[in-house]
Amino acid sequence: MSALVVSMHDVSPLTREPFTQMLRELAGVGVTKTSLLVIPDHHHRGHMLDDVSFCRWLEGLAKAGHELVVHGYYHQRTPRGNETARQRWINSIYTQGEGEFYDLSEEEAATLLARAKENFSKLDAPAPTGFIAPAWLLSDGACEAVRKAGFSYTTYLTKVYDLSRTGHDHQDDFVFSQSLVYSCRNRSRRACSLLWNALLRRRLQRVPLMRLGLHPPDYQHGNIWRQILRFACEAAKWREVQTYQKFIESRHRAFVPRPSPV
Ligand SMILES: [Zn+2]
Repeated sequence: MSALVVSMHDVSPLTREPFTQMLRELAGVGVTKTSLLVIPDHHHRGHMLDDVSFCRWLEGLAKAGHELVVHGYYHQRTPRGNETARQRWINSIYTQGEGEFYDLSEEEAATLLARAKENFSKLDAPAPTGFIAPAWLLSDGACEAVRKAGFSYTTYLTKVYDLSRTGHDHQDDFVFSQSLVYSCRNRSRRACSLLWNALLRRRLQRVPLMRLGLHPPDYQHGNIWRQILRFACEAAKWREVQTYQKFIESRHRAFVPRPSPV
């Protein structure tokens, strides 16, 4: 059966309120489990472990079948000296300074990943098996650090990367499926998003995996949120609603070689 994965990007104490509403409404249309992309210390504005009620909320969601995924550490990129024009464009225009793992070295990424794993170990919830970089921007060095830290998958805008199968960028390690995602920054972007995602959804009708990546601002715009709920409701009727973790696990099971006849 084909799958639907809904991922909630930027979960933190700062965004708990809209996500509570979003998760309730998604459950109402059949999406009862999601991948929750959690930021340990969102923009340095309050560590998740310092908010006990937030931690209990996360633990409750994990018990209910949602998956916790590490989503950067601060979700904020520190500007560097001598940046190239491309780096400046990515940082200031494309990600608005949020591409934290876009150009980290392997060592820098490893430090943040180790800290995140230590933080998540304090929760009464299964350890995350996935890491997804802010804005899906992950340098090669950082990707290597993610693999070495023991995460079993990461995702990009257009693909899911199964890190635990061959581990050598083999084509079987990738599942190609572009995520539906919305830009709510201004009126024209919202209009383009509605059109683009309607087209993309039609194009992805028959792919084995449909991905829907949601952010808190999506909930503030009625026409965007209505389209999201409609797409989620339709997809949940004939696709199996999964988390990325379950999707990867079922993929591994499918690869198990059949025992040879004796
Ligand atoms: Zn994010």
